Amino acid sequence: MPGAENFTVKRGNSRFELAGILPEVLSEIERTLLSGNVILSSEVSRFEQAFASYIGCGYALGVNSGTDALILALEALDIGPGDEVITVANTFHATALAISRTGARPVLVDCRPDDFMMDTDQLKAAVTDRTRAVIAVHLFGRPLDIEPIVALCEHYGLDLIEDCAQAVGARIGNRRVGSIGRIGCFSFHPSKNLGAAGDAGIITTSDPKLAERLRGLRYFGQRERKVHGELGHNTKLDTLQAIVLYHKLPMLDGWNDRRRERASRYRAQLSGLPLSFQAPDPEHVYHLFQVRSAERDELQKCLVAAGVDAIVRYPKPIHLQPAFASLGYGPGAFVVAEQLARTLLCLPIRPDLDDQHMDLVVTTISDFYRTRTLAQA
Ligand SMILES: *Cc1c(COP(=O)(O)O)cnc(C)c1O
Repeated sequence: MPGAENFTVKRGNSRFELAGILPEVLSEIERTLLSGNVILSSEVSRFEQAFASYIGCGYALGVNSGTDALILALEALDIGPGDEVITVANTFHATALAISRTGARPVLVDCRPDDFMMDTDQLKAAVTDRTRAVIAVHLFGRPLDIEPIVALCEHYGLDLIEDCAQAVGARIGNRRVGSIGRIGCFSFHPSKNLGAAGDAGIITTSDPKLAERLRGLRYFGQRERKVHGELGHNTKLDTLQAIVLYHKLPMLDGWNDRRRERASRYRAQLSGLPLSFQAPDPEHVYHLFQVRSAERDELQKCLVAAGVDAIVRYPKPIHLQPAFASLGYGPGAFVVAEQLARTLLCLPIRPDLDDQHMDLVVTTISDFYRTRTLAQA
């Protein structure tokens, strides 16, 4: 496989994202470096306030990564050994990892074949007297069908955590994801829709008590100066990352609009081929554009050979990962997640993807199927 820089159609373009803001970002970074004030500085709180107001929640607390955001969220809700947390078999590893890291047990449910996300009909059967919370994942950038989950959590007295790592800016009705559950967790990994220049994440909540607890948890469990009320972590949003994120945030909605527009163009141009797509949603922010193909592996090879950085997210569902073998799920436990793992392929999508590059992707896929049809005739 060629390195990412050698692809004709790339998955990301940091040059585009920084165009226009780079001089300001660099001068703030220079000022920060010279001031020496680099830990939990005013630049961090400036971004936290901007992000909280963007999401529409009371508080946002910057941490090292989306994974840490999830771990701290669970800990702030006192979830640990003996507890169960329900999430979905088709998600990024970190969602389930965070649950196991607290000592709690991830309980998985399958996903739906149409929108590829948590099958809310299966939630009820997964609830036991040990269940404490549900982590709802807005996967690939699509806000998930959250109403039944909210209702179930209210009914059983469970806490709802939203994993918004892939869907920053997506809305459900007039609310942004991350403002609906008790806690929202975000990642600013450079690959995400709002990407930092390294690892970064944030936690959102509107509960002042939880916000205080989270503030302590990210700083060695400190409740007041030099008094460590509990065993916390050292996971703080870095000042340099906060500067980059603060300047990128005002552009996010425009970028997400553009991703949606690019996705509709893919859908239109690829229609009629033996492919299917994630059920559309007007609020989808297309962190990933997934096509479902029975010939996924061959199609990927063909795209990569043509210079298209097409990738598989995720080739192995959570329950079949060696790290989660102890959960005791085997092959066949979550049939839809397993089918998706065999058939989904991500096509490059970014706000600045131009028609010419998209056309190369579309033509390569059309030619792939035309050649196969001819070969089979
Ligand atoms: C990226 C991601 C995370 C973890 O974020 P990091 O910042 O990489 O730790 C968690 N959940 C989902 C769904 C993700 O896509």
